[in-house]
Amino acid sequence: MFRLGHEKIKYIIEQLDRAVENHQMWFQNVNRSLACNVPCKPEDLMPDAHRNCEFGKWYYRLADEVLLRHDGFNAIEKEHHHMHELATALLMESQQAPVSNIDKYDQFSKSVEHLRMQIMSLQRELQDSLFNVDTLTSARTRSGMLTELRRQHELVKRSAFTCSIAMMDFDHFKNINDSHGHQEGDMVLKTAIRYILDSIRPFDMLFRYGGEEFLLCLPGTDLVTANFAIERLRIGIENLTISGITRAEMRVTASFGMTALSNEIFIEESIHRADQALYHAKTTGRNRLIAWENLDFDKP
Ligand code: GH3
Ligand code: MG
Ligand code: MG
Repeated sequence: MFRLGHEKIKYIIEQLDRAVENHQMWFQNVNRSLACNVPCKPEDLMPDAHRNCEFGKWYYRLADEVLLRHDGFNAIEKEHHHMHELATALLMESQQAPVSNIDKYDQFSKSVEHLRMQIMSLQRELQDSLFNVDTLTSARTRSGMLTELRRQHELVKRSAFTCSIAMMDFDHFKNINDSHGHQEGDMVLKTAIRYILDSIRPFDMLFRYGGEEFLLCLPGTDLVTANFAIERLRIGIENLTISGITRAEMRVTASFGMTALSNEIFIEESIHRADQALYHAKTTGRNRLIAWENLDFDKP
């Protein structure tokens, strides 16, 4: 799942569409040069041809950090580079004499096809993100949350796997809206959630549960480790200085209630426990993290 805003995701899908179209035309031109002995473009003979095609120019100069770290994009970069190398070798050879090595040509055309398939599957992944990512905050929407949590729960039930979840709710958010306006409130949400998304591990998940309430899922994390991780987030949020649209500087805090998934109860009950812990965090001063396991009321 991409932790990018909708506009950015749409832009990347567009760029990938263009890459497919451009390479289709480029492939036709390379074929033309090879088959009819027509001179190819000089840049296709250069060792950095992959950097100077339209896609290469975009990818190497403009592509986003998030993409450069994404496996799907790395695979595309590798195949794209390989495809240009194969094309350059064939075109160089064809300058001297018609290419007679069918294997090399087959490798080249297979690489063109591989690249097209890889781009298409990355586009599907991006389309998926468009449906499942909240427009305002870029957190995941609630729609796939239970499925994802059930998957984690299955792992907990079957092995020594641990997973902690936390409910998070911003403190006195009504006051932020009342004092600065709803638009500024949106900016606070957007900035604080961006901070969390940039701070958690790639396989951690943050869902917008509703309004300014979020559910954080930390797979492979016991309560002690979750406590460290979430405390770090809580303090990070407390220290954020958020510049709004009207440049008013705003601060915000959040309260957290966490619990570890357990093989003895349903996932719905774990969410309820996290919610109970959050309630205690709210009623005992806010801007704090409480684990359900540490609550000392009578537990069922
Ligand atoms: P508490 O510390 O008890 O949580 O106080 P609170 O004021 O945050 O209370 P509560 O969580 O019940 O209220 C949430 C408020 O957040 C009310 C709602 O208008 C506002 N809110 C929810 N979603 C959004 C949003 O997307 N943008 C903005 N600007 N405000 C939102
Ligand atoms: Mg609140
Ligand atoms: Mg709330």
